[in-house]
Amino acid sequence: MTKVIAIANQKGGVGKTSTTVNLGAGLVRQGYAVLAIDFDPQANLTMALGFKSPDDMDYTVSNVLAKAMDEEPIDPSEGILTTAEGVDLMPSSIQLSRFELALVNEMNRESMLRQFVEAVKPDYDYILIDCAPSLNVLALNALTAADSVLIPTQPEFFSNAGLQMLLSTVSKVRKKINPSLNIEGVLVTMMDKRPNFTKELVSQLRTAYGGTIKVFNTEIPKSIRMTESNVNGKSVFGYNPKNPVGIAYEALTQEVIEHDKALERVGRDVQTAR
Ligand code: ATP
Ligand code: MG
Repeated sequence: MTKVIAIANQKGGVGKTSTTVNLGAGLVRQGYAVLAIDFDPQANLTMALGFKSPDDMDYTVSNVLAKAMDEEPIDPSEGILTTAEGVDLMPSSIQLSRFELALVNEMNRESMLRQFVEAVKPDYDYILIDCAPSLNVLALNALTAADSVLIPTQPEFFSNAGLQMLLSTVSKVRKKINPSLNIEGVLVTMMDKRPNFTKELVSQLRTAYGGTIKVFNTEIPKSIRMTESNVNGKSVFGYNPKNPVGIAYEALTQEVIEHDKALERVGRDVQTAR
C-alpha cells in the first residue's frame, strides 16, 4: 500500500524541505520506492535535489495541475525526474504561484493534485509532498491528496498558535473532503540542546500534544551540515552519513516506518472485527 505524506507547516523556514529531502533519502536507503513532489513555487526542494534552474524547466507540477483542470488524462511517468539520492522528483517552479488564483473558481479545486497522486501511486511505496509555507488552496490540495501530515516545528515561543491553526485546518479537511487524513506526527527540528528554555519549550509541546497526537521521539539537531548539504544538492546521507543530523533523520525514518506498520495493523484489526 502506498503512503502519501504531506510535509506541512504554514510557518516559513521550519525544516519542511530539509525533512522531505532527508526522510525521502532515508526511505530509499531502507529499500522503498519514493516520489517527492515539490508543491512550493519557491522550488527549494527541486533545487535541493540538484536542479539549479527550476524556472527554466519544461514540465513541472504546474503542468500536472493544468491537465487536471482541463480534465486531460495524466500520464504517470511524464515529467518525473530521477535524482542522485534515488528519490524520484516531480519538480516545481514559480509557475505554481499562478494556481493559487486560477484554482479559486474551479469545481473540486481541492482535488487537482490528488488526481496526479492517484495516477502515480502504483509505482511508489511512499509519496512525500513538500508544501509551501501557507494555508492556501495549494495546501488544501496537498492535504486532500495525502494519507497523513507530518508537521516540522521549531522550538520557539509563538509557534503554538500556528500549530493550533494547522491542526484545525487538518480537522476541517478530514470532516469535509478527506476523512482518512491522519496526523503522521509533529517533528521538532533545528533543536539546539544547550539553552534550557529550548528544552523547556519542547517538553511543553510534548505535554500539550503528546496525549492526542504523535510527537516524534526523534528531534533533529541544529547543524551547519544541513545547510551545506542543501547547497550541495544532496541529502545529509549523501553529504556525510555520520553527522548528527544524518543519524537523527535515520531514526526519524525508522519511526515513520514503525508508525505506518502499526497503523496498518490497526486497520487490519478493524477490518477483521467487521
Ligand atoms: P519554507 O517555509 O521557506 O519552505 P522550510 O520549512 O522548507 O522553509 P527549510 O528550507 O528546510 O525550511 O529550512 C530553512 C533553512 O534552515 C534552510 O537554510 C536550511 O538549510 C536550514 N536548516 C534546516 N534544517 C536545519 C538543521 N537541522 N540545522 C541547521 N539548519 C537547518
Ligand atoms: Mg520549503
